[in-house]
Amino acid sequence: MREWGTVAPGELDRIVIVSPHLDDAVLGCSSLMAAHPGVTVVTVFAGRPPEYPSPMQHWDALCGFEEGDEVHVVRRAEDAAALAVLDATPVWLDFVEHSYLERAGWARPEAVVDALDAALRALEPTAVFAPFGLANPDHDCTHDAAMLVRDRFEADGVRAAWFCYEDTGYKHIPGLLAWRVARLFRRGVWPSPAAVPVDPDRERKDSAVACYPSQLLALEAEWAIGVKLAAPAPEQFWRLAPPPAGWEGLADQA
Ligand SMILES: [Zn+2]
Repeated sequence: MREWGTVAPGELDRIVIVSPHLDDAVLGCSSLMAAHPGVTVVTVFAGRPPEYPSPMQHWDALCGFEEGDEVHVVRRAEDAAALAVLDATPVWLDFVEHSYLERAGWARPEAVVDALDAALRALEPTAVFAPFGLANPDHDCTHDAAMLVRDRFEADGVRAAWFCYEDTGYKHIPGLLAWRVARLFRRGVWPSPAAVPVDPDRERKDSAVACYPSQLLALEAEWAIGVKLAAPAPEQFWRLAPPPAGWEGLADQA
């Protein structure tokens, strides 16, 4: 009972954070990274679309981009700068955000899992932090792909602690965080808040977040991100683990 909510010695030696887009890990896990130098962030949707749409897609326009801009080059540079502030290292996968594609072309978890699995295994993580994956189809896909990797790790005896972090912005959408927690609960992966050591220095987080000027414009316009980042709400990490022996039936009552 005493160890519930705590992390075991060595569990956070090699942290890997899985990020849907070039900003989500920093928005949701800066304080974690600040306390644990050497984190690797694997961003799934960091690829270039075959062509940028004309007229520009809505989000890129809100970000202040103009036709002809190599948006993903700018965004990768923002990400590299932000992670440098936090002594973390990026790994960028080449999947393309859904907003650039026809619906039939959207990446599916089954198409992402092999590349994500390979990227994670190469890093030999002691702990993996995945997004809850709320609302945005790329977030949802990233979450599901990460859970498939988790299943593979388990089947292959690859040991790592697994946590979910809350998607900044999207976690405030009514019901969605509760929906995901309930879904994992019913699947026997009981998400429980963990007391993961973090560095609460706001200045460091603010400096890292400020490295994404393009995204902050759109996040403010669409999600009022400023007031949410300013609220004194901690970054909360939820451990994914089977229930204590004999408690399984509780999920059936949910
Ligand atoms: Zn995102």
